[in-house]
Order: sequence, then C-alpha cells, then structure tokens
Amino acid sequence: MARYVFITGGVVSSLGKGLASAALGSLLQARGFSVRLRKLDPYLNVDPGTMSPFEHGEVFVTDDGAETDLDLGHYERFTGVAARSTDSVSSGRIYSSVLEKERRGDYLGKTIQVIPHVTNEIKDFLTVGADEVDFMLCEIGGTVGDIEGLPFFEAIRQFGQERPRGQCIFMHLTLLPWIAASGELKTKPTQHSVKELRSIGIAPDVLVCRSERPIPEKEREKLALFCNVRPDSVIAAYDLGSIYEAPLAYHREGLDQAVLDAFGIHPAPKPNLTRWDDVADRIFNPEGEVRVAIVGKYTQLEDAYKSIAEALTHGGMANRVKVHVEWVDAELFDSEDPAPYLEPYDAILVPGGFGERGTEGKIKAAQFARERKVPYLGICLGMQMAVVEAARNLAGMERAGSQEFDHESGELRFEPVIFHLKEWIKDNQTIARDVLDDKGGTMRLGAYTAHLKEGSKAAEVYGTHRIEERHRHRYEVDIRYREALEAQGLCFSGMSPDGRLPEIVEVEGHPWFIGVQFHPELKSKPFAPHPLFADFVRAAKKASRLV
Ligand code: GLN
Repeated sequence: MARYVFITGGVVSSLGKGLASAALGSLLQARGFSVRLRKLDPYLNVDPGTMSPFEHGEVFVTDDGAETDLDLGHYERFTGVAARSTDSVSSGRIYSSVLEKERRGDYLGKTIQVIPHVTNEIKDFLTVGADEVDFMLCEIGGTVGDIEGLPFFEAIRQFGQERPRGQCIFMHLTLLPWIAASGELKTKPTQHSVKELRSIGIAPDVLVCRSERPIPEKEREKLALFCNVRPDSVIAAYDLGSIYEAPLAYHREGLDQAVLDAFGIHPAPKPNLTRWDDVADRIFNPEGEVRVAIVGKYTQLEDAYKSIAEALTHGGMANRVKVHVEWVDAELFDSEDPAPYLEPYDAILVPGGFGERGTEGKIKAAQFARERKVPYLGICLGMQMAVVEAARNLAGMERAGSQEFDHESGELRFEPVIFHLKEWIKDNQTIARDVLDDKGGTMRLGAYTAHLKEGSKAAEVYGTHRIEERHRHRYEVDIRYREALEAQGLCFSGMSPDGRLPEIVEVEGHPWFIGVQFHPELKSKPFAPHPLFADFVRAAKKASRLV
C-alpha cells in the first residue's frame, strides 16, 4: 500500500501548490521511489472539459481520454508518469456519483449525508491504484477554509486516521508576506491558516512557505513553535527563474528530506539529481534566442495554452536556445495582410481552439508561413486551418471551410473540408456520437494510434512509423479531399490505422510545415522534449540564422 502525502494550501491561492507537489514527486523519484500524483478539486463542475480556458487555464487530456485540470500537466512534466482519468476528481463528480447511487437504491433507503457518504466516495477515489506505487501525492485544490473544500479536508483527515500510523502525512503551503514599511516577513497569516487546518483535525507535518525574501532563523523558529511543526520541516519556497528549477530548489531547502523524515524512512536513499541538473543547465545557459509567434484567440491568458508554452520551452532546451514566445491575436488580421504582424518571428504556431472567431486570421497565418517558407506548426484547429488554406489557395476551392463554423452560425457557407465526425474506431470498436449540443463527451478524446508515411518529414522527426498521441476535437479533415490536396503538395503523412482519419499533413518542399490533428504538447517533458517541438524549434533556430 502506498504512503500518502496530502498537500493543502492556505492564506491565498496561486502559491504554486501544483508545482510543489510535482517537484516533490520528482524528488521522491530521484531517490528511487515510484510515485503517482492526484488532484482533488472542490469546484462543482463535473470536469474541467466545459470550463472556460480564460478562467481555468487549459484542459489537460490524459491517454485514457479524461479532460482534467492543468495541474495534471505539471505532474506529468515533472515525473513523466502518465496521468489517468482516476487521478483527478471534483466535488461535482463526487456528488454526481453519490446521487447516481442514491437513485439506483444502492444506499438501501438510508439518509444520504456529507459524512459518511460523500467522504466515503472521496476516500474510495484516493485508494484507486494505491498498490502500484510507493507514494501517492494528493493535492487538494483551493485553500483551507473554503466552504466547498470542507468534505475533502474531512475525508483526508478520516483517511489519515484509518490508515496504519506513519502511512499518511500532511504538507501545507502558505505565504509569508513581506511588509516593506516595517521591513519584516510576517508569519501571522500562516499561523492562522494552520490554526484553521488544526481546527478541522489536520496537523501539518511539513510547512512550505512561499516568500520573496530569505526566511530568518528567528521566523523559522517562530513558525515551528506556533504551527507545531519541527524547525527542519519549515521549508522555504522562493521565487524562481524557471519552474524547472523547483526540484533542485526544494531539495536544497530540504523538502524531500523533511517528507521522508516525517514518514520515519531512515536511512533515506541518496537522491540522483543529474536529470534536473541537466535541465537547469539547459534553461539557464542558452546559446541564443528564437522568436515564435503563437497565433490564437485566448491570447489574454497564457494558462489557456500552458502545455504549448512548456513544450516550446522544452524544444528550446533540446536546441540550447531560449524560445521567446509572443501571443499574437489572430483577429488583428482577419481581414488584413498578416505580414506586418508576423514578419518579426522565426516560426509560427497556430494552436487548438474552438469556434469561428479569429479563424480567418489563422488561415492567413498559415498562408503566410507556407508562402514565405517560415516554419509552421499547426495543432488541431491550427492543422485544420492549414488544410482549409491549402484547399482555398492551392486547390482552388474558394469556399473551403469547417462544418464547425456552419454549425455555429446555422448557415451553410462553407464547403466542408473539415467535417463533423460521427463515428470512428478505437481499439477495434466503433464509437458513434451524434449529438452536437451536449457540450461534454462528444469529442474524440485521449490517445489514438497513427501510422506515418515512409519517407515523410513526420516519420523522420519521430524516428518511427507508429505513434500514439492525444486527441480532443469533434471535427476531422475529410479524406475525400485527399487526392486534390496531395496533387497540390499537401502530403497526408500520418493516418489513423484504418486509413480514414488524417492525423498529420505537411507541405512538400517547405523547410518545415506540419499540421497535426492531435495535441503533441501534452506529452512533452523537460527531460524528454517532444520530437515535433524539438524539431520545430530547430527549424526556427535555422530560420533565425543562429546556425
Ligand atoms: N474545434 C476543432 C474541433 O473540434 C479543433 C479542436 C481543437 O483544436 N482542440 O475539431
């Protein structure tokens, strides 16, 4: 049975709890332990699939097709452990499952209550797959004291109590504000936060304190005394130059040691941190810079494209360059020449997206990249728009477009080069979906296999002919246009195993122009950059004449 670390937060949100959890996971791995990370979100949405990326950041898709919180992306990037649908849960999902059981009569007419029914449901979630790893790290979203978080806190308290002694520990992340007027770091908010936690029966074993300034010994002792933790379990978390420095920084501050001490694991196996030393070296000692434009719609909030930004950073690390990303709003050149907006960049990336807004600009960006021979990576909608561009401007289909936009507007304006797929094959089984209005669950989601064409750029970049990548979309390139497009030099270099669904297209004779129907960014890691991103940045570096 795994040991459990429960990670909670206090004082304010956005302190980097997900990052602290992920970094701890990577440090336990560095000491030879196996880990799995899990996120419990108190919000009432059943999953983040239908939440606005403006508000909630990107939706992270797992291999098994779950739409989850972006923190699961951090977990994967730091540990390399592929997240599963059973690694993320929200109050909404817990409650719907309890209510479903109630309707089915599973509770035999009993009164259904938060304790024990909701808390039992949460505890069942915690134990899935617990035999597979040494450590299970469970992060509770939000901050202590939030009303909707209470059942989760109660459930982890019970869980800790029910396990054998020494099997669960609690780690609490807080903020020490710096008060400039008095020149002091303040510990009071942390004391209150821990008091709140203890009032619901949870005593933290490890206290992680975010601070802009070094924490003086005196304050550390005070925190230990008032919060009832050992002085060496008060861990400082300072602002970092890069998130990928976090494992090394937390190790320096003694986080992994404090956690192993709390479990009574003696002697602790020595850590091997060479992976993270190499990552830090590549991040902090680049040999140049390339400029990449991400042409999208959600340009206001970078979290909406978190994994893409990270994957580009990884691609830069593979080439020892810093990737300077600029977010360019596609709507700026919906009906204008994009050249003045795009000329400053070494490469162009058009990411995934939904809805028609900004798509004429994206099509123009694809055309600009194709004609000017600028490296182009189109992801999902970015691939679809590249296909529409080729259909319009190379194959002469002036009205080429996506059915998605006609469905949205209720008019028939486009020739559906991109069409709504209602039936497809997964693991030799046909999946049929006909509903357009049900927002959840009508997409092709999760990992699918693709076969790559011999001699194609895609096969060269991947170094293999069979890949598995994650999907999240409703619409597909219609295979009926393949011949017409291939005749104009748009090669269909990756296809689903049954040959019906185009997965990758590329422009022949272009230095680097690839569109992919899937989301490669979800699988990139700092210590294993995704081949498409590594090669895209290599092409950008070449375009910038850095080589
Ligand atoms: N809107 C497009 C579709 O549903 C693309 C989705 C995406 O980019 N993730 O097919």
